[in-house]
Amino acid sequence: MTSEPIVQLYAEHLLNIRTLTLTASLSTESTPLTKAKISADATTLTLSHEEVSATIHLPKAIEGGANAVLELPKQATKDLQLRLMLEEHNHRSHLIKDSPAKNGALQEDNWVPWSAPSLVRRRGKFSCRNCGTAVLNNSPSSGSVKSIAPPEDTITLWKDLPNENWAEMMDFWHCHKPDTEDGIHDEAVHTKGYAAGSKIQAIGGMGFVDIAYFLLASDDCRSIKTKPDNTLHCKQCAAEVGMVDERADGYRVWKWALSYMPFDTNLPPGNHAIVKWISALFLFTIENQGVRKIAVHDTANTSMSGLLLWIFTPDLTFSSSYQPPNSERLDPTRAMKVFWQDFVTQTGEDVESTSVEEVRIPSRLYVELQGALEESKNILPVKSQVFRGWNVALLPRFQGNEID
Ligand SMILES: [Zn+2]
Ligand SMILES: [Zn+2]
Repeated sequence: MTSEPIVQLYAEHLLNIRTLTLTASLSTESTPLTKAKISADATTLTLSHEEVSATIHLPKAIEGGANAVLELPKQATKDLQLRLMLEEHNHRSHLIKDSPAKNGALQEDNWVPWSAPSLVRRRGKFSCRNCGTAVLNNSPSSGSVKSIAPPEDTITLWKDLPNENWAEMMDFWHCHKPDTEDGIHDEAVHTKGYAAGSKIQAIGGMGFVDIAYFLLASDDCRSIKTKPDNTLHCKQCAAEVGMVDERADGYRVWKWALSYMPFDTNLPPGNHAIVKWISALFLFTIENQGVRKIAVHDTANTSMSGLLLWIFTPDLTFSSSYQPPNSERLDPTRAMKVFWQDFVTQTGEDVESTSVEEVRIPSRLYVELQGALEESKNILPVKSQVFRGWNVALLPRFQGNEID
C-alpha cells in the first residue's frame, strides 16, 4: 500500500449529457501549486500536484479546451471535482457507428462482433481461444460455386438468429444449470419460445449467429468433445467452448471461447475481451426482461452463492489515469456502471422475483466477471467505489471501432 498513487484521475461522461465529470484523488491536500491543464491538441488533461502528474484522455473536445489551464477550487482538498463542458457536435462519433446494422431485438447500440453480415464477407478459421486448435473454417461461397458441396467443418453461409429468438436466449441462461429441478420455470420459457414458431434446427455448412454463440451442426466442428453434462470442450486443452443444443440438434459454440484468423494474413488470431461479451448479454437481458437487477450464478458451482448486479447506467464513457498491467485499454472507454454485491440464498429460497432476473453463466465467464468487478476499484475514485452498501464497478462494452 506504500505505492498508492499521489494523483489519480477519473473522468466520466454520460450519454446525451454535455458535461464531463472529472475527479482527482490526491494523497495529500491540494495547494495553490496544484494545476490542471489541457493539452495543445485538447485530447488529454494533465493534473500536477507535488511534482507528480497524472494524465487522462478526454472523450472529445472540451469547450475552449486547447492549452486551457483549469480553475481548481481554492480550498485545500484531497478530492477535486470539476465539471467540464463538451462541444456539442459528435462527441461520441468515435465510439458509435453512424449507421449500425440492426441486430434483431437488440437495442440499437448493443452491437457485438462476428455478426452474420460480417462473417459472410470474409474467409478464415475460428480456433480455440485458449490453445489455438482449429475448430471451424469460414469460407462463404459466392453465387457461382454454390453447386459444389462444401467440405465438412466449413461454414459457407451465416445467418443471424431471428429477432424473436430472445426467448431461446433466455433459455440458454436457464437450461445451462447443474440441477434440473426448476421444471416449472423452464417449461414456461420453452412454451413461450417455441410457441412463437422460432424453433431452429442446425444445418450442415450453415452457421446461425446469436449474441454470444454460434449454432452449428456437430459435423462442422473439429476438435470438440462432449461431456456427460452436455458441455463442449476443446479436445486439445479441455477448455469449455460451448454446449450441446439437443432441440436444435447441434452445438452452441461460445463466441467468447474462440479466436478468429483470416486466411489471407499473417496476423495472430484475434478475439475480444471476454467481459464485453458478458456486458452484451446483460444488456440484452435487461432490455428484454424489463429488469435492472441480475442474480448471477456460476454453472459449475452448485452452492447458493452468487453475484447480484444492478445495471445502474447502461452506457457511459470513462477515462482513468490507472492502467492495469498488460492492459490494452484505450480511453475513453465505453462501459456500463453496475452496483454489485455477493449474495448467498438460503436453501429453498428463490432470488428470482419480478425485479431480479436469475441467470447462470459458465465458470470462465463468471471468473472474468468477478475480475472485472474487482478491477474497478483501481479505476474509480475512492469515494465512488461504494454506493449505499453496494460496490460500484465499470464493465467495458463493445465500442464502434471494434465492430466489424
Ligand atoms: Zn483448446
Ligand atoms: Zn429450459
